[in-house]
Amino acid sequence: MLSPLISCDSRAKGVRKNWAGNYEYEAKEYYEPKTLAELQTVMKRAGNRKALGSGHSFNDIADSPLSQISTKHFNKLLAIDEQAMTVTVEGGARYGQFAPELHKRGYALHNLASLPHISVAGACATASHGSGVKNGNLSSAVAGLELLTASDELVSLTRGGFGCVGLYHEADARHSEDVSGMSGCVSGYAPAVAGGASR
Ligand SMILES: Cc1cc2nc3c(=O)[nH]c(=O)nc-3n(C[C@H](O)[C@H](O)[C@H](O)COP(=O)(O)OP(=O)(O)OC[C@H]3O[C@@H](n4cnc5c(N)ncnc54)[C@H](O)[C@@H]3O)c2cc1C
Repeated sequence: MLSPLISCDSRAKGVRKNWAGNYEYEAKEYYEPKTLAELQTVMKRAGNRKALGSGHSFNDIADSPLSQISTKHFNKLLAIDEQAMTVTVEGGARYGQFAPELHKRGYALHNLASLPHISVAGACATASHGSGVKNGNLSSAVAGLELLTASDELVSLTRGGFGCVGLYHEADARHSEDVSGMSGCVSGYAPAVAGGASR
């Protein structure tokens, strides 16, 4: 459900479940802002907000008794900085969408989870991991991020810890030279499973 003052999609009707279908979201209000301005409006007006990425968590971690804010429209690859070796994506960006773009330029992330269609912010917020005991989890690639706080501040952070202090609007992830194993993994993703992206 959306505030009538905000021109976003509304899905007040019908049951909404996580990706696996084992959990039914209870949030009474559901928002899909499309722009930063809409997101800021929702953040200011919605109560007890929780961000919703691609909904792949098996439990209620992305749920709220009141408001859920989807990042599905914040899915773009914003920039690849070949000097700094970073890629900037929107918070709702999905690995399966932007990793192939990195691959085309001969780059890759240091690791990926088993599914390509989880969002960057959701994966980082839950310390999602890939394979290899010596490889850091996905959040360990984050070089910086832009955070929209509940008090409507856009805060830019570089290389630090994550906390429950706001909604990641953008994130920069470090990438490295592509390697055959990783590129095979990335290029093997079917377009049908690709989703959105953010900085
Ligand atoms: C089939 C399957 C395979 C999986 N494989 C792996 C695996 O290989 N390795 C692994 O570690 N995990 C794995 N997972 C778990 C998955 O990585 C996590 O559940 C991850 O959180 C999913 O990301 P999401 O975008 O769906 O986040 P969601 O489930 O939507 O949200 C997770 C958390 O992130 C928060 N969040 C989302 N977006 C934002 C944002 N923009 N700002 C602030 N907070 C935000 C939510 O509020 C919530 O607390 C798997 C899950 C499934 C269903």
